[in-house]
Amino acid sequence: MVNSPDSPTAVGIHRTPMPGPAEPVSWAPSRPQRVAVIGASFAGLFAAAAVAAAGREVILVERDVLKNTPEPRPGVPQGRQPHVVLHRGVLAMQQLLPGVAEELLAAGAQRLDTGHLPWLSPYGWMPASDASYHVYSLSRPLMELLVRRRVLSLPGVTLRQGVRVEGLSRSGNDWEVHLVNAGRIRADAVIDASGRSSRLPHWLAGLGYPGPPTALIEARLGYASRRFRNNGGVSLRTGVVMLATPELPRGALALPIEDGRWMVLENGYGDQRPGRDVASFERFLATLPDPALSRLVAALEPDGDVAVHRQTGNQRRRYGRRGAWPRGLLVVGDSLCAFNPIYGQGITVAACQAEVLQKAVNHLSNARSTRRWQRRITALTDFPWAVSTSEDLRYPSANGRQDLVQRLMSRWTDRMSRLAVGDDQACLQAFADTYHLMGSPSRLFAPRVAASVLRSMVGTLPKPAPRPAVLDGLAQDNVTT
Ligand SMILES: Cc1cc2nc3c(=O)[nH]c(=O)nc-3n(C[C@H](O)[C@H](O)[C@H](O)COP(=O)(O)OP(=O)(O)OC[C@H]3O[C@@H](n4cnc5c(N)ncnc54)[C@H](O)[C@@H]3O)c2cc1C
Repeated sequence: MVNSPDSPTAVGIHRTPMPGPAEPVSWAPSRPQRVAVIGASFAGLFAAAAVAAAGREVILVERDVLKNTPEPRPGVPQGRQPHVVLHRGVLAMQQLLPGVAEELLAAGAQRLDTGHLPWLSPYGWMPASDASYHVYSLSRPLMELLVRRRVLSLPGVTLRQGVRVEGLSRSGNDWEVHLVNAGRIRADAVIDASGRSSRLPHWLAGLGYPGPPTALIEARLGYASRRFRNNGGVSLRTGVVMLATPELPRGALALPIEDGRWMVLENGYGDQRPGRDVASFERFLATLPDPALSRLVAALEPDGDVAVHRQTGNQRRRYGRRGAWPRGLLVVGDSLCAFNPIYGQGITVAACQAEVLQKAVNHLSNARSTRRWQRRITALTDFPWAVSTSEDLRYPSANGRQDLVQRLMSRWTDRMSRLAVGDDQACLQAFADTYHLMGSPSRLFAPRVAASVLRSMVGTLPKPAPRPAVLDGLAQDNVTT
C-alpha cells in the first residue's frame, strides 16, 4: 500500500476504526459527473452501463490486461467453469444493453429451455414442462468479451486496464482511487465491483469507517470442469443436470456451449469434492445415479484439462447497515454478496443491482442518501441469499445448521419436489419462478401450490415421470463414435 503524505485520509494513516469521520461540508455536486468503477468483470461492466445510461462519465479500472479474444484470465479464476444466466438476469441485461441476448446467440450461445432440460432431482427425473424459462449457455470468457465490447462502446465509458487499485482516499468532495505505480484517479463517486476478494473493508477501515458485518455460510462445495468437443458423436441438444443432495452430495451437469463444444461440471460437497485429474473426473461420473453423463462424455472429445474451483461459500458484507457511510461510495456484485455458484445467481443479481444503480447515481450527493441507496442494492441480495444459504445449510459439510423456519421451509419445498416429479404444474411453475428469480418467495405458497401440497398430505403422491427419452440416444451416440 502506497500512502501519499499529501493525502490526509489515505488508507493506512487512520488505522484505528472509528464510528466514521465527518463528511466534508463544502459543496458537492448533486449528481456525480465522473464515476470510477473498480473491476471490469460482470458487476463492473453492468455498473458502467447503468452509470453511462444516466449520462455520467465512467472510468473502469481493471487489474488484468483484457484481451480481445475469449480466454480465461487470472483476475477471474472461475472463468474456466460453466456459467449460465438466469432468466431474470437475461431481462436485466437486455434492459441495460438492448439487443445483447441476440448478440450472444449470434456468437454461438445455446438457448436452452430449462423446462425441457433432463433434470434429475432427488425424487426422479423432472417431467418436461412448458412452465419454465430459457437460459443462454456459452463460455464465460466469450460472454464477458461480448458484454465488455458493448459497454466500452457506450459514450462516456473508458477503461484503465492492467492497473490494480490499492486504496481509496478523500480530498475535499472528491474521491481518489490509488493505483499501483500508476498514480490516482479523481472521481465524484466510486463503485466497488472488485469481487469476492475485494479489499474495500480494509480501505474503509483506513478511512475511519467501521467494517461491514460479514456472514460466511460455506458447505465446502468443490467444482471440477472439463471442456469437450462434439465431433458429431452426440445428437443431444439440451443439456443434462443431476442435482447433488444432502444424502448423495455429488452432482454433475453438462451444457452445450458455442462452437460445438460442451462443458461438463462435477460438483461435490465436503469429502465428496471431485479431484483434479482425468482419472478421478471419470470415476466421479461413474458414481452418479444415472449413466447419462458418463455416456455423454464417452461420446465427446476432450478439449482441455480438468479445472477445479473450491472458493464457493456464500459471503455477504452488509455495507451501510451499521455506523457511518461515506458519500458517493457504492458496492455491487460479489464484493457485496457472493453466492454458492451452483445456484447460478451472481450475474443475475449484479445485473439487477445495475438497474437500481441507474437511479442511485442521481442521489449520491450526501452520505445519508448514498447509504439509503446502498441498502436498496444490498436488499436485492436478500432473496437469492435466503435460497442459497438455506439450501447449503442442509448439507452435513456446512458450517452451520438450518434454523426452525428454514427446516419447515425445506419440508415444504421437499414435498413440492415430490409433486413436481409427478407433473404437478403449480409446483413446477413455482420452482421455475423462484429458481430464475422471477418472483418473490411467496410464489412457493401460491394458492394452487398450497392446495397441491395440502392435498398430497392426505392422499397419495403422483407417480414420478419416466427417464427422458432424449437420453436413450446417448448409448447409441456412444456406439457410433
Ligand atoms: C465456480 C463459479 C461458477 C459460477 N457460475 C455462475 C453461474 O453459472 N451463473 C452466475 O450468474 N454466476 C456464477 N458465478 C458467479 C459469477 O462468476 C459472479 O457473480 C460474476 O462474475 C460477478 O462477479 P463480480 O463482477 O462482482 O466479480 P468478479 O467476477 O470476481 O470480478 C472482479 C473483477 O475485479 C477485478 N479486480 C479485483 N481487485 C481489483 C483491484 N484491486 N484493482 C483492479 N481490479 C480489480 C478482477 O480482476 C475482476 O475483473 C460463478 C462463480 C464461481 C466462483
